[in-house]
Amino acid sequence: MPVEIEQFICRSDNFGVLVHDPSSGQTAIIDAPEEAAILAALKRTGWTPTMILTTHHHLDHVEANLALKDRFKLKIVGPEAEKARIPGIDQTVRQGSVVQLGAERIEVIETPGHTAGHVSYHLPAPKVAFTADTLFALGCGRLFECKPPVMHESLKKLAALPADTVVYCGHEYTLANARFALTVDPTNSALKERAARIEALRAADKPTLPTTIGEELSTNPFLRWHDPAIRKHLGMEKASDVEVFAEIRKRKDNF
Ligand code: ZN
Ligand code: FE
Repeated sequence: MPVEIEQFICRSDNFGVLVHDPSSGQTAIIDAPEEAAILAALKRTGWTPTMILTTHHHLDHVEANLALKDRFKLKIVGPEAEKARIPGIDQTVRQGSVVQLGAERIEVIETPGHTAGHVSYHLPAPKVAFTADTLFALGCGRLFECKPPVMHESLKKLAALPADTVVYCGHEYTLANARFALTVDPTNSALKERAARIEALRAADKPTLPTTIGEELSTNPFLRWHDPAIRKHLGMEKASDVEVFAEIRKRKDNF
């Protein structure tokens, strides 16, 4: 039986996600931004959480850790490199670690850049990835703790996942990302179509996530450092991939 996934908004623009394995009855919470919204989602689904999978130490991803641990006696998993900053952590993971959710295999991909220890969680069988604040729909996380080459390597790892991998992200930032993306890739017709769809979804107060790796590859400027039209638009035809990525990130910081 495939895993079931419940996505919901927490705080103002964070996503909460539950992943449920029906055969074992186990449920993972991907990050814990807000206790009340997570409790409501658990009530709605009838699932009992067995673990929290933490992507990074920022408060908007760990604030409900201790309250949920206290209530459900669940296990908290998170990156080895950030263990000192993740409340209630029981088990640390690094590149290549595997976490079992019942029979479902969850692989850890280290994706530093936004923070130095950020990890993403990948379920290869159902082809699902949780990329939190590394890869967003039409964007990527701000570089708080790392330089552009580090984030570029992380995004390359995610870009190499199968194109039909379904991607859940940490925030509903897609509309602002779309408006920015059009400024660096204005002639991309797939991007223009997607931006129109996103405007309509947000006008109806609907989420723009999840996305897919394939959709990001064709429209997300932060994965399109090789694209001739973007390079030409930026006047960077001869620059390295990392230089193009860094320039796009810098422009977004000032957008
Ligand atoms: Zn963050
Ligand atoms: Fe965040």
